[in-house]
Amino acid sequence: MQDQFGRTIEYLRLSVTDRCNLRCRYCMPEEGVTGLSHSDVLRYEEMLRVAAAACRLGIRKVRVTGGEPLVRRGIVNFIAQLAALPEKPEITLTTNGMLLAEQAEALKAAGLSRVNVSLDTMRPERFKEITLRSGLEQVLAGIEAAEKVGLLPIKLNVIPFVDFNDDEIVDFARLTLEHPWDVRFIEFMPISSDLDYASRDGLSMDAVEARLRTTLGALVALPYQRTSGPAHMYRLPGAKGRIGLIPSVSGHFCGDCNRLRVMADGRVRGCLFDNHETDLKSILRDGGDDQALEDLLLAAACAKPEKHQINGKDFTTPNRRMHGIGG
Ligand code: SAM
Ligand code: SF4
Repeated sequence: MQDQFGRTIEYLRLSVTDRCNLRCRYCMPEEGVTGLSHSDVLRYEEMLRVAAAACRLGIRKVRVTGGEPLVRRGIVNFIAQLAALPEKPEITLTTNGMLLAEQAEALKAAGLSRVNVSLDTMRPERFKEITLRSGLEQVLAGIEAAEKVGLLPIKLNVIPFVDFNDDEIVDFARLTLEHPWDVRFIEFMPISSDLDYASRDGLSMDAVEARLRTTLGALVALPYQRTSGPAHMYRLPGAKGRIGLIPSVSGHFCGDCNRLRVMADGRVRGCLFDNHETDLKSILRDGGDDQALEDLLLAAACAKPEKHQINGKDFTTPNRRMHGIGG
């Protein structure tokens, strides 16, 4: 499947719920969200039809996300069904890790390849401050369990904020000395302008790199690998793991974008920042056949904009929050 700019689309991000068991202050309002109603959310069999159509069109990797995907009941069985699709796509998961310890073994057995765990701090009080819940221990246990069952490599996603958790950048980077993990720093993106952290400054990846070089010295740049997506990868000398820097705002990687995003209500976005969406639910529920579904997915791919306009003068924040799009 190609878009109108010649990019090959082979990566599907599939959000299975807009709900979450944390309240990260940059992602969700404290009181939670009214959320999609039960009937608005695609049933698993509908999502599977979408994923199957997408795989026939050339999708090779499906990332299950949310909200928090592990809060949706039946998620393990759904992942097993995704992994069993004839094209055998790689199935990955982005999670906050809260329910990972109890599900890691079953997820691995279901065919999940690996997990990305989002963790912005390793200090319990700060964890509570940013997520408005306790649970750091649970997340750490989740990471340990994922490693034990072989959901590898573990990727940790960290968003550094000025004067909030930027004093932990070096601690996070040092984790790679002892663990074969990818610790990935991601620039905070201008989404959800109504939330607490919207006005906080995220650190640019140039600033993160400078901080790491000043404190830790040599940082060896690694050759580009497609599996690392938009991350620039580095290794500290002798480290078991790697450090990734993802300049989501300051970088220009739209030219290599290979993604489509299907949200829990069955709408497809070609770009996080583009409010244009293609609705699949009516086809799914009104007896549309597989050809009609594939045609809509192709149309969604064709509608992908050439690049985001974050730094442009006409930029407005997306009309959905991150927990609703899936990151
Ligand atoms: N709940 C899961 C989790 O937190 O990993 C999956 C969904 S969450 C929306 C996916 C990712 O989006 C998380 O890594 C989160 O930190 C990130 N995220 C949320 N809001 C963001 C923002 N404004 N800029 C950059 N990343 C953001
Ligand atoms: Fe939930 Fe993930 Fe958003 Fe945090 S970032 S509130 S864990 S969806």
